[in-house]
Amino acid sequence: MIYQPFWFDQAMAEETNAVYSADIDTKPYDIAIIGGGFTGLWSAIQLKIQAPNTRIVIVEKDICGQGASGRNGGAMLTWSTKYMSLKNHFGHAQATWLVTQSEHAVQEIAQFTKSNNIDCDLRIDGCYITASNRAQQGVLSPCIRALDSAGLNNWQQVDGTTLKRTGSAQNSMALYSPYAGSVQPAKLVRGLRRVAIKMGVIIKEYTRYISHTVNDENQFESHITVDYHEQNKPVNTLKTKKLLFAVNAWLPKLQPQFARNVVLVSSDMVITKPMPLELNALNLNHGAAIIDSRVFVNYYRTTSDGRLMLGKGGNYFSFANRVSSKFDRPSQYQKELDYSLSYFFGEHEFEIERTWTGPSDRSVSGFPFFQESEKNVYVAAGYSGNGVVQSYLGGKVLASLLLNKQDEWQRCALVNQNLVRFPIEPFRTLGAYIIRNGIRRKERAQDDNRVPSPIDCYLTKLSGAAAKVDTN
Ligand SMILES: Cc1cc2nc3c(=O)[nH]c(=O)nc-3n(C[C@H](O)[C@H](O)[C@H](O)COP(=O)(O)OP(=O)(O)OC[C@H]3O[C@@H](n4cnc5c(N)ncnc54)[C@H](O)[C@@H]3O)c2cc1C
Repeated sequence: MIYQPFWFDQAMAEETNAVYSADIDTKPYDIAIIGGGFTGLWSAIQLKIQAPNTRIVIVEKDICGQGASGRNGGAMLTWSTKYMSLKNHFGHAQATWLVTQSEHAVQEIAQFTKSNNIDCDLRIDGCYITASNRAQQGVLSPCIRALDSAGLNNWQQVDGTTLKRTGSAQNSMALYSPYAGSVQPAKLVRGLRRVAIKMGVIIKEYTRYISHTVNDENQFESHITVDYHEQNKPVNTLKTKKLLFAVNAWLPKLQPQFARNVVLVSSDMVITKPMPLELNALNLNHGAAIIDSRVFVNYYRTTSDGRLMLGKGGNYFSFANRVSSKFDRPSQYQKELDYSLSYFFGEHEFEIERTWTGPSDRSVSGFPFFQESEKNVYVAAGYSGNGVVQSYLGGKVLASLLLNKQDEWQRCALVNQNLVRFPIEPFRTLGAYIIRNGIRRKERAQDDNRVPSPIDCYLTKLSGAAAKVDTN
């Protein structure tokens, strides 16, 4: 039994009436999806909404939600704070469209969960982006100006009373947008699984993709043979017309041609035992996500049962992008998590329920990519730590691609990008740690109101798109 993130255990404990899927058929499927996280499930659901007769199978090596989708921070964020990066990469029109769609997606996810009775503690209470030290004050100003001139700005500077809703005196300023919120991610992903099965999607859990062959029978009709391994059974095959890899951190292993397009880096999380009275006293009686403006952001939110969760990105870089067993243990960065808790909440006496970690797939641009990797084979990855809302958009993009709808989703700039590559190993991991340590020293100096060294400032600039907000 592997060590489970808190959310996942909590969600599974409530699944007394889990629905099960039928067996894999020998008749060819229209679409086979590898991976039962948000991306695989939203894609299957979108496909069923748009083309109900599509025959879809999802092959998941563990159980749905055991990857990043069941263990993330549950912060529902849009791309508005990445508007400048979007514009640099994809131009004004696409940046505008992607920011707008990401804002719509927040409401659409909420509506979907409501109409499908997915009980996942989803609260659209917005997001506060704060300055948690002096150096962070004003770092978002260029982005807000750019959003303003594009007519896209939904962020407002908060007054002193509202600032208290961030729960910490460490936050000297904050911007607030209502287009955000928080969710219990494992309950959401397990709910999506239930809905997908109800819509007729076959979901095979504990079933591992091994390999595939594209068989070109003639130029009009081709099919793909997928070898898979179900627990305690010999290797079997299924046939499908189209194949989608929605495997996130496992993409470098399963599709090595993308091995240099992502870097796997941990986000580390801590959650407290319920303490509603303490949270109330801190004005943390809402579901907004609170994020500071550093590169390795601190982000925190509460749960409806009165817990505080805090996460911190940019810790462990996995050599050669292996999804190592270190991602299935308590966080090895408890010292950093303790530092962040004390930084925001002083000499607190919070009782810790659990820590955990998981791999984020960072792309060079910081945005996901949806590629046709060979005929009728598609991949999705690169969410770069912003995937709760964005995987819903990914589902729409992938459904359009797989159905060849030739619409705005299929034509959007995230599809079939000219992907930039990270350096080869060992330079990639070595470089990542050198940059990480420089960022950490710089951010620690700024927390202490010291002037960071020029070298550390330079190293921070090299982090490019790593932050959740455009900071340089
Ligand atoms: C610790 C952490 C915190 C995060 N916090 C946030 C946050 O607060 N807000 C936010 O927006 N984003 C956050 N993210 C990012 C977000 O969680 C991801 O972008 C999103 O969940 C990706 O979904 P996915 O379906 O693509 O991947 P996953 O959920 O990882 O799904 C991939 C699936 O593929 C399966 N798989 C792999 N290999 C095989 C195989 N051979 N055969 C069959 N199945 C296979 C895996 O078991 C897994 O279930 C965080 C990520 C992490 C790791």
